Amino acid sequence: MILQIFFIVLGLIIGSFLNVCIYRLPKEESVVTPGSHCVKCNKPIKWFDNIPVLSFFILRGKCRGCKEKISKRYPLVESLSALVFSSYYNIFGLGIEMIFFSIFTSGLIVAAFSDWETRLIPDEVSLGILPLGIVFSFFNPVFQEAYSQNPLVVSLIGALTGALMIYLTGVLGKLVFKKEAMGFGDVKFMALIGAFLGYKLVILSYFIAPFFALSYGVYRKIRYKDDYLPYGPFLAIAAVFVLFFREKILDVIFYL
Ligand SMILES: [Zn+2]
Repeated sequence: MILQIFFIVLGLIIGSFLNVCIYRLPKEESVVTPGSHCVKCNKPIKWFDNIPVLSFFILRGKCRGCKEKISKRYPLVESLSALVFSSYYNIFGLGIEMIFFSIFTSGLIVAAFSDWETRLIPDEVSLGILPLGIVFSFFNPVFQEAYSQNPLVVSLIGALTGALMIYLTGVLGKLVFKKEAMGFGDVKFMALIGAFLGYKLVILSYFIAPFFALSYGVYRKIRYKDDYLPYGPFLAIAAVFVLFFREKILDVIFYL
């Protein structure tokens, strides 16, 4: 119980840091200095106005100084991060699996929201966390149950497969639609997913992502009548979906 609360609080604090990463990494700003400040009036945010989730509601979503609206992304990412850390503690228990999958999922969160807001997936996330997936391969429970090869090979081929699939999709998309369909950010991002999920599950994520993207794309078309559709968030959702439902999905595929 105490640990459960600890991981909710830790998740909230890390979520707050992920928000800084989402805002600053695409701009190539430091995530350490300067301290938190309002993006409009530049006033430093005092500690009591910087409490995850809570401060957003106390301030009613506005900066104390200039009343500029604070993005709903802040409490959203903080809650999401708290949910990840506390539920991963429940699922994986206290140990190396929980740590690595939490870092992986935190990376997915930063990539998804950066891509959503700026259409950029920072290299610090994809290339920065990828080596951890390779190191983790020896302890990765997914590799032990779904693959028979050496875990290091599964992870490396996974990264390569992910990158190659998105790269080829981009090349094909350019031929067919005569415009840039996939950015290089997506290529590196899918390499990260492959390093943590291995080649079979990264292929699975690749084929599942369009279902999420398509449902949102249709909604977007009806609601806003535009085609805004960064692909990173849907790759991230698909990766988490595959991580948790891999057995059920594979059962269904082999049953057909
Ligand atoms: Zn302000």
